[in-house]
Amino acid sequence: MVEAELNIEELQKRIGRLEADITHLSMHDHLTGLMTRAAFINEVDCALHQNPEVKAKGALIGINLRGIPRIAGTLGRHVSDYVISAIAARLNAMPMPGSFKCRLDYSHYAVFLPDLTDALQTMMITKQIIAELSQPIDWVDRPLMFQLGAGVALAKDNDGDASNLVHHADLALKSAMSKGGPGYAFFNPTLALAAKRRVAVLQALHAAIDDHSIHLVYQPYYSTKTGALNGFEALMRMESKELGPVSPVEFIPVAEESSLIGQLGAWALAEACRTAANWPSNLTVSVNISPEQLYSGTIVTDVHNALELSSFPAYRLELEVTESTLLKDSEMVLQQLSALREMGCSIVLDDFGTGYSSLSYLWKFPFSKLKIDRAFVHALDSTLMARGMLQSIIGLAGNLGLKVTAEGIETQHHADVLREFNCDYLQGFLLSKPIGPTELAHVILQEFAPQLRKPNVETLIFKAG
Ligand code: C2E
Ligand code: MG
Ligand code: MG
Repeated sequence: MVEAELNIEELQKRIGRLEADITHLSMHDHLTGLMTRAAFINEVDCALHQNPEVKAKGALIGINLRGIPRIAGTLGRHVSDYVISAIAARLNAMPMPGSFKCRLDYSHYAVFLPDLTDALQTMMITKQIIAELSQPIDWVDRPLMFQLGAGVALAKDNDGDASNLVHHADLALKSAMSKGGPGYAFFNPTLALAAKRRVAVLQALHAAIDDHSIHLVYQPYYSTKTGALNGFEALMRMESKELGPVSPVEFIPVAEESSLIGQLGAWALAEACRTAANWPSNLTVSVNISPEQLYSGTIVTDVHNALELSSFPAYRLELEVTESTLLKDSEMVLQQLSALREMGCSIVLDDFGTGYSSLSYLWKFPFSKLKIDRAFVHALDSTLMARGMLQSIIGLAGNLGLKVTAEGIETQHHADVLREFNCDYLQGFLLSKPIGPTELAHVILQEFAPQLRKPNVETLIFKAG
């Protein structure tokens, strides 16, 4: 009898321990030992409800590691798992009294600090976290490097629950990560408005694709040597019933985030080649290519299909890529650009002078043309240095055998200076805005019937001569 009672007692103890283990396991991430997302949100919710001081002084910091998919892809999942748990161990070891720390997902962590005096202290702690966690991690024969971003949300600015606070920190983190290097950002209501707008633009984009209201307009570019029309750049336009016209500067990044860009980019290539196939045979067409089209590996097939369907010759197709495209996966990008070049297309480096403006790209990648960004051209209006810079870039490109287009030519002064520096082509509102099919036919007709030619283009280009 006594023995049976003891056994029951022992059994209850064991069950108690087992239950505690199960609870611990369900609340903690298996890889890192940090709290899971659900447990963390629950704890933060309790802290916010139980103590008004926490609502006034709490802050949630979201942290993400950039480059983990690259480590997983190149060195293997076991190495990325090692990095994720090593970073978690560092975070766990940082003394932050009263805090909760969790792994939200993949390489995404969060810390909730219940008692901070002000935004300055929050900023100092965020910087310490970034500095501590972004130290290289030793792996076999080499240190592994990665960058880290942080997004901070203050509890006092949050009218919702803990999930909403995590959402605020996510928006701030996204803003910090979008700036490229390591860094942090604080949540502010404009980030929430911008996120709402992105959702509206995405819905409008789906609707515009469904009802075929995305279309292309064409902006001509002219030779500075002859004044002749050389070709057109195809630019996408979107009309939404709800939002009105939406600029590509806004809808292209949304399309890139949502993977719609593959479909849109392939359509733009096919449509531009189909249209340009009706032009005189000396005119080229330029199509902008999004980085995602190169990273997804579909660009060579898309270009091949567009050319074949339209019977448009590859040598008249120019593909414009921006410098940011070349930063990531540069081996894969190089292979695809080389394949496109071998097919006969020209590759153009667009927006040169924004971004990193790294000259090494000019010989590493198979470019045949460089487009100087309009910001550089407009700098002629405000700084004397711009003249020297423009002259050097055009000279260097010429030495490397590259043609140069200057975009954003808005004034006679811009046209005169660039012509003086032997820039090959000019494009900008001074010569023509992007135009639709009717005007386009007119511009082409003018080119081949000089008596119809608008007086402006040649005189604008040759005025200085
Ligand atoms: P981008 O390729 O650098 O195109 C030049 C942009 O500058 C165009 O804006 C054009 O309308 C504008 N522009 C041309 N001349 C002048 C000028 O003299 N002054 C000023 N202020 N602006 C001028 P848009 O059409 O709004 O396009 C903006 C950007 O959106 C493009 O920059 C390109 O990066 C992207 N984009 C447009 N269409 C496509 C597309 O089909 N695919 C992809 N991936 N991106 C596209
Ligand atoms: Mg362009
Ligand atoms: Mg450009």
